Amino acid sequence: MAEYRIASIPADGIGPEVISAGLEVLEAVAARDGGFTLKVDHYDWSSNYYRKHGHFMPPDALAWLRTADAIYFGAVGDPDIKDDVTLWGLRLPICQGFDQYANVRPTRILPGVTSPLRDVGPGDLDWVIIRENSEGEYAGHGGRAHRGLPEEVATETAIFTRRGVERIMRYAFQIAQDRPAKHLTVVTKSNAQRHGMVFWDEIAALVSHDFPDVRWERELVDAMTMRMVRKPQSIDTVVATNLHADILSDLAAALAGSLGVAPTGNVDPERRSPSMFEPIHGSAFDITGKGIANPVATFWTGAMMLEHLGEKPAAALLMRAVEQVCAAGILTPDLGGKSSTAEVTKAVCDAVRGINR
Ligand code: ATP
Repeated sequence: MAEYRIASIPADGIGPEVISAGLEVLEAVAARDGGFTLKVDHYDWSSNYYRKHGHFMPPDALAWLRTADAIYFGAVGDPDIKDDVTLWGLRLPICQGFDQYANVRPTRILPGVTSPLRDVGPGDLDWVIIRENSEGEYAGHGGRAHRGLPEEVATETAIFTRRGVERIMRYAFQIAQDRPAKHLTVVTKSNAQRHGMVFWDEIAALVSHDFPDVRWERELVDAMTMRMVRKPQSIDTVVATNLHADILSDLAAALAGSLGVAPTGNVDPERRSPSMFEPIHGSAFDITGKGIANPVATFWTGAMMLEHLGEKPAAALLMRAVEQVCAAGILTPDLGGKSSTAEVTKAVCDAVRGINR
């Protein structure tokens, strides 16, 4: 029987609440499946750890994480610590250290969940957004000079490399090819950004030759926002730069009903290092400790993790259980329901145990 090592990093805010719910559900799935077990290593790296030790994780953290098959991450963020400190302290060193260059964000309207879009229901919106996760506008390249003076200058240079663009395009075409619609939208801004984005378009066209069965097109990022709202049925797989996809995927999460149901995976498609799976939402301190955090994003991200580990039937089983529970109206308050995190978790565990495979 396969045994997978999962590194669990719940971190801050509602992170520990949703990750413990997620682990409970994953244990139920493993027991129901019978073909694999999970060995979970718990890490307390977080903003509290930073307050105690002066850093978010120990210097040999990546060596520890490397022993895992996958990382299950909660949320990082603290009201008293600046956002860029938390982000560059915990999540980014893992994403960059393991070269998890593809950020994968599936979006669907789950049954029982209402989209803010009129007349759009489950089946009308079924997307996967692939975000370039290692370079582009978030490469961290730039600087400031003449601080505080009238001639102060700040630069933030987007970096696009042939290797970086080609590998994300190849992965996006591959994902599109594996989906029934076999349709990829390459988001660009090559009308205004005449260097990096023209390069991006050229490489998309080159890579497309290796995927003749994938229908693909280019769309400007501004036009894409309108299309997501007006014609969600016309979209299937999307690839975009680090910045563009960051914005588009928050819009996607809102259109799907709530941040509380949106999952993501930071994936190393070459599997040199463990990939990291996390809900899109942050630490949500306004609801921390109230027992009402929506655990669905964390369950869905758990299903993505199982799929990545090669346990496709178990992943599908988990998603069917989640959909069954949502359809039955067992929802947390962010989705208009009255159930607690614990009630939704129990309902999903019960559904997992009861589903015929
Ligand atoms: P961070 O600074 O870590 O990004 P944040 O609180 O600014 O955190 P999010 O946590 O992403 O931002 O969420 C914004 C709001 O959405 C929260 O304040 C919360 O009310 C709601 N929210 C986010 N995630 C969930 C969830 N899982 N369940 C219920 N509500 C949620």
